[in-house]
Amino acid sequence: MSAPTILTHPLVRDGWFTEVNSQWPGQGMSLQVSRILHHEQSKFQDVLVFESTTYGNVLVLDGVIQATERDEFSYQEMIAHLPLASHPNPERVLVIGGGDGGVLREVVKHPSVKEVILCDIDEAVPRVSAKYLPKMAAGLHHPKVKVIIGDGFEFLQRGENQQAFDTIITDSSDPVGPAEALFQPPFFKLLKNALREGGHISTQAESMWIHLNLIREIRQSVNDIFPVADYAFTTIPTYPCGQIGFVVASLKPNEDLRQPLREVSDCRYWSPAVHKAAFTLPEFARKVIEDG
Ligand code: SAM
Repeated sequence: MSAPTILTHPLVRDGWFTEVNSQWPGQGMSLQVSRILHHEQSKFQDVLVFESTTYGNVLVLDGVIQATERDEFSYQEMIAHLPLASHPNPERVLVIGGGDGGVLREVVKHPSVKEVILCDIDEAVPRVSAKYLPKMAAGLHHPKVKVIIGDGFEFLQRGENQQAFDTIITDSSDPVGPAEALFQPPFFKLLKNALREGGHISTQAESMWIHLNLIREIRQSVNDIFPVADYAFTTIPTYPCGQIGFVVASLKPNEDLRQPLREVSDCRYWSPAVHKAAFTLPEFARKVIEDG
């Protein structure tokens, strides 16, 4: 009988994965690896899943941590509930990216939601997540959910979904590679066209400790198209600097995105109080992001 193959990966050395990446020069989150569970080069990206000693199973795309079983809820709950709980009646929802299923799991907690479409570019992400991160991937199989494999930009550009959604959540990887176009004004215009009257969006918008100028640009670009646009943040140990934020926006002038309109059940991070507080930025960040 032949011995089982032991998988290797260039970013796993001496039993530790280190997230070395030019997007955050001079620093690198390390996690101790029990074993590598999966590694492939998909059509779009390097896909790695490993079991860590303290954060459960970890999904890594192109060397960047996307989700760990231990802390993913803080991200998924906030990117989903900030735009949904502040919307008066979200019924149809679109998720761009999010192929791990975690955001879907949160979206369907809103009883008003009747239908959710998810469009991720890479079939490998839902396939691998279903096998190795099943609690997150559960959202992919919910009866209200339809999964489409394709580029989110092209999906909206086809124009088949004009004024079709109450909320659109862009749960994308960082603005390099396939996700680059999802951080730019032409995409934000497509989002606007795909929203019903008074629709909301939220979009992954990076860490204030590393990307302040980028966040200011994203918020400004969104605000050129949407009358209301704000940056809110969550804490999460396995993203760079332990913090990541979202630009949340509304088509309704004077909409108060900071005010949740209802409770959401089964949350571990989000609460009405956390929702309101998430928009209050530390002074160094507020000055750049809000005052420009
Ligand atoms: N929470 C994560 C983070 O911020 O690190 C993001 C997780 S999610 C897995 C990111 C997803 O975006 C990936 O599955 C990737 O395939 C998808 N993606 C990247 N570019 C895309 C595009 N242009 N259209 C649709 N999905 C895209």
